[in-house]
Amino acid sequence: MDLNALMELDRKVYMNTFGQRLPVAFVAGEGATLTDSEGNRYIDLFGGIAVNILGYGYPSYTRKLIAQIETGILHTSNLYYVEPQTRLARMLTERTFADRVFFANSGAEANEGAVKLARKYFFNKGSKRYKVLSLHDSFHGRTLAMVAATAQAKYQKPYSPLPAGFVNVEAGDIEALRQAADEETCAVMLELIQGESGVLPFPAEYVNQVRALCDELGILMIVDEVQTGMGRTGKLFAYEHYGIKPDVLTAAKALGGGVPIGAILATEKAASAFSPGDHGSTFGGNHLATAAGCAVMEALYDEGLLQRASEMGAYLQSRLRQLAAAHPLIKEARGLGLMAGLELSPAFTAKALAEELLRKGFVTGTAGHNTLRLLPPAVITAAEIDRFIDSLDAILTQKESSLT
Ligand SMILES: *Cc1c(COP(=O)(O)O)cnc(C)c1O
Repeated sequence: MDLNALMELDRKVYMNTFGQRLPVAFVAGEGATLTDSEGNRYIDLFGGIAVNILGYGYPSYTRKLIAQIETGILHTSNLYYVEPQTRLARMLTERTFADRVFFANSGAEANEGAVKLARKYFFNKGSKRYKVLSLHDSFHGRTLAMVAATAQAKYQKPYSPLPAGFVNVEAGDIEALRQAADEETCAVMLELIQGESGVLPFPAEYVNQVRALCDELGILMIVDEVQTGMGRTGKLFAYEHYGIKPDVLTAAKALGGGVPIGAILATEKAASAFSPGDHGSTFGGNHLATAAGCAVMEALYDEGLLQRASEMGAYLQSRLRQLAAAHPLIKEARGLGLMAGLELSPAFTAKALAEELLRKGFVTGTAGHNTLRLLPPAVITAAEIDRFIDSLDAILTQKESSLT
């Protein structure tokens, strides 16, 4: 379909939740390069919002998915054993704090399951704890309960009344969290780097204080690693940077390398709260999704991609910090590994910068606080990062000279 026809048809038949999309349709990809329907090539620094950690056409991933499809089975149901599901659960438990895993289909759904697990954990004890504390500027997904957890007015306002049991608390303030906790609180849920609201990392001290507070109160710490997981920050999961262990962790985005999948990871103690029938999913952890997850884990560990994510992440962060030092239009360079944000001064909107970069052949995104948002695949090369930095440098220099 011709791009104009596609755009016109989409405007007619698709619900208008994405507004005016960028006028591009990608049709092929290889490595960190995307090609659009008009034959233009782009370096991708957005990875489909942190999903495509392996980039495009990663050979072993493609082979393994084709092999799964060629068995004739994409799905059976969870009434039977599903070998790739069990293998992926083993890989995730071997590499993390977790003893058990449950697979869902998305980040929001994994988070919902984590909240159900926390409530059930205290229900089993005969406790009245059910409230979840979540933080301002967080993002936990789009289901009704996760909109209640996502403490941003713009997401909550049209959907009231929201499900009860979520208390939104000032972010980064341990005393505010302590004040908000009461005898009905069952868990704290947080991202370690708030992605959607502007790539805002929490100081290690705060993360450790949250862990200590959860221990003191005997409540669960749920870490939402939907975006920070799967090598994004240079470790499999970001909690590893902080010297803490959560009780429950959620993953999604990059876990399937592009095939939808979410996961709840938990300690034995927390996971044992679920008994048969308490939770479930038709699709969750099916053959296709978990074969994809296994292929991602194998690429990270057996093919050196985790190491590469760490190296390229460090390189990207250092280049961005150099750039920030040289350009008054950049307020701050933030982030960890392959999760980076450049907060711009109000004279240049992140949206305008992302659009200019797209015209120059670089796919990026935006986040809150006027932030250019970068989530490149781990297969990106130093030369590709350099090309991006040079282009960004030129755009900023030009904009700065036009402003003076
Ligand atoms: C993207 C995201 C979600 C929601 O994931 P979906 O798969 O879109 O439901 C939840 N939490 C965080 C931190 C995210 O970045």
